[in-house]
Amino acid sequence: MSKASNPLLDPSKRAAATQMVHGGGRRTAFNETSEALFLNSGYSYPSSEHAELLFQNRIEGHNYSRFANPTMDMFQERMALLEGAEAARAFATGMAAVTNAILSQVRAGDHIVAAQALFGGCRYVVEDYAPRFGVASTMVDGRDPENFARAMRPNTKVVFIETPTNPTLELVDIAAVAEIAHAHGAKLIVDNVFSTALWQKPLQLGADIVTYSATKHIDGQGRVLGGVVLGSRQLIEGDVHTFLRQTGASISPFNAWVLLKGLETYDLRVRQMTDSAEKIAAALARHPKIERVIYPHHPSHPQYELARRQMARGSTLMALDLKGGQEAAFTFSDSLAVVLISNNLGDAKSLITHPRTTTHARLTEEVRLETGVTPGLLRLSVGLEDADDLLADLMYGLDQV
Ligand SMILES: *Cc1c(COP(=O)(O)O)cnc(C)c1O
Repeated sequence: MSKASNPLLDPSKRAAATQMVHGGGRRTAFNETSEALFLNSGYSYPSSEHAELLFQNRIEGHNYSRFANPTMDMFQERMALLEGAEAARAFATGMAAVTNAILSQVRAGDHIVAAQALFGGCRYVVEDYAPRFGVASTMVDGRDPENFARAMRPNTKVVFIETPTNPTLELVDIAAVAEIAHAHGAKLIVDNVFSTALWQKPLQLGADIVTYSATKHIDGQGRVLGGVVLGSRQLIEGDVHTFLRQTGASISPFNAWVLLKGLETYDLRVRQMTDSAEKIAAALARHPKIERVIYPHHPSHPQYELARRQMARGSTLMALDLKGGQEAAFTFSDSLAVVLISNNLGDAKSLITHPRTTTHARLTEEVRLETGVTPGLLRLSVGLEDADDLLADLMYGLDQV
């Protein structure tokens, strides 16, 4: 027998954890084990004719690192394997990815429907910037798919959602909204950061495009920013690639390399963080100083049934609503020794934030209350510390309230 007949030579026969270590990797003539970092902006060609053919897309190759770089390629391929997507493009940040995914699909005169509970920057793009360029938008309460159906217009080209939402972990029914979008000829774009690629597969549920802030669980160690857009070969190599190529929100090869390394431990990290989050949510749900714990796979979640249906597990994030309002939330956060106060998430370090006075301070009181951003609300991103240390830290904090 030889290696040639080994079925695992076929990448599609490998499990996700294996894909995240080897997938998309390509070796140079030096046979390095770790993926090579190509820190070059341009490329030279063996002949003028070669350059001509390359620019006509008649031969394969790289011509400029704004849109073509071997380290970027490896990261994109590994991301596509993780998501089960035909193709992926990497961006400088998660916001660059979301902006490109949306704007590459619309032109003046079109209309966007979006769930109103969105990451701050995403809401800004849809609600403030798109209309400036003649693309109207309607924000709806995403918890009921009927709200999307009512908001659709003949010129609606994009439906944009995030699920679970930031910071209150409300859910949007991806399959139901995909059906509504497609019935009106619109594309469904899903920002999948809060669920992670491990626990929710929007493309399988009918979404057309999935976006990530790679800054979060994909790097997962608080080092670099990055973003990814995934979908069919046609959409990604067409609209999304062209928009990236011409507008230039490109990822640095160095950041792509760091993110490739992040993916090697992604499966392990997200699993461990989810185990701890489940344990913490169960313990805090019974605490007398907490009004409610919002965690998708906890039976008290108002959309528990949907959470079980569309998410394999319940995320590494949760929201806690403390009974004593903002004062209690501040006292609690300020008493923690292991959990850090930070608005980032998906990090190896556990992080807690008070959305009302930080990430969601810009919203009007009406919208904040509509989206559940109450004075006592905190968002907790569970990290890789020992789960019992985290529980002890959180219990100590609650004792101080
Ligand atoms: C962080 C985040 C973004 C933006 O990503 P950046 O990398 O910070 O630009 C978008 N959507 C969600 C849900 C996020 O958590």
